[in-house]
This record gives sequence, C-alpha cells and structure tokens, in this order.
Amino acid sequence: MNRSSMETRVAALETLLKDKGVLADDSVATYAHRTSEEWLPINGARLCARAWRDPEFKQFLLADGKAAAASMGFAMPEHHRKLAVKENTPSVHNVICCTLCSCTAFTIIGMAPGWYKDFEYRASIVREARTVLAEMGLVLRDEIKIRVWDTTTDTRYMILPLQPPYTAGWSEERLARLVTKESLIGVQRLEPPFLPVQNPDALQGQ
Ligand code: FE
Repeated sequence: MNRSSMETRVAALETLLKDKGVLADDSVATYAHRTSEEWLPINGARLCARAWRDPEFKQFLLADGKAAAASMGFAMPEHHRKLAVKENTPSVHNVICCTLCSCTAFTIIGMAPGWYKDFEYRASIVREARTVLAEMGLVLRDEIKIRVWDTTTDTRYMILPLQPPYTAGWSEERLARLVTKESLIGVQRLEPPFLPVQNPDALQGQ
C-alpha cells in the first residue's frame, strides 16, 4: 500500500470512529503529540544519568523503577504496574523483548522500534540471544552472561547500561545525551569497546 492510500484509509477510519462517538475529537492528535513529544527515550536516559551520578537514586531506581521515574516527573499508565530496571555490568548483559506482541515501558523508553515487533526478533532473542545480538551489531564474548526479560502487561522493563568509564565526572545532562533507545532495550552497550568514545556535545541536533 502506498503512503497516500494509507493516509486516506487512516483519515477515513478516524472520521468514522469520531462519527460513531468511539473516538474523542482530539484523541488522535493527543496520542500523536505524546508519542512524538513526551514518550521519548530521553526520559529513560535521564533516569540512567541520575543513577550513574547518585548511588542512592540508583538503589531507588533498581528497587522501584516506577516510583523513581515518578519522582522525576515521568508517569506510566496505570496498567504498567511495575518498571523493572535491570543493571548491566561488565560481566552481565540484559536485553528485553515481548514475545507475545510489542509491549515496552513506552512512556519511559519511547515507542517500540519496528524490529522489536518483528516475529523474528521476538522468537529468536529468547532462544539464541547471543547470535541475535551479534547480528544486530553487539558481539558479546562468551564470558558475558546474557539475561533476556520478557515483558508482560503489568511488568515493563528498562536496562540501566554500564556507564562508560571515560565519562566520570560528566554532568547529568551530558550523560543523558549518551544514552540511546537501543541501549535502554539492551541491544547496544555504550562503553568501549562496544562503542567508541562519544562526544554528546557533537551529537546535538541529530
Ligand atoms: Fe506486547
């Protein structure tokens, strides 16, 4: 289906649902605004950056992610009862998936990427995580243990990446700009040798 016919169909569906009273007039616009302006991975990135700088906050985040997120003004839907934050270490790597569909803590880490929803990723990450991650560009030595976390309706996950050692002493804002959606899902690690030294100031505007 080409783009224009998709847009025409979506517009027709929206009109129909509004006419039937199923959809409030502004709900599509509100949803579009939230997904593009509010539910962004920078929210999770800010949680990680604070946890890296503040050990007490890190303990809070690992113990009760939802409450820690709320303390920084990041809300989650009521049915997301738990935000389970899994910490990467030099010897442990965590990655998330939703084997049933495409659930994420979307208000915290942003909307699920297309590949996350693919049957191929959902089916193979739980069986052969090391191979799947390598195919996605993250080659982990055998000594690094991999843990796969399968999202449910009420338990959502976020990965706390390992802080790159060269960033010691950086401000929270600068650290947050290093953290990607992929690293919050667990298909990327931020520290060398997985990623080269980054300068987040140079990434601005990208
Ligand atoms: Fe799902």
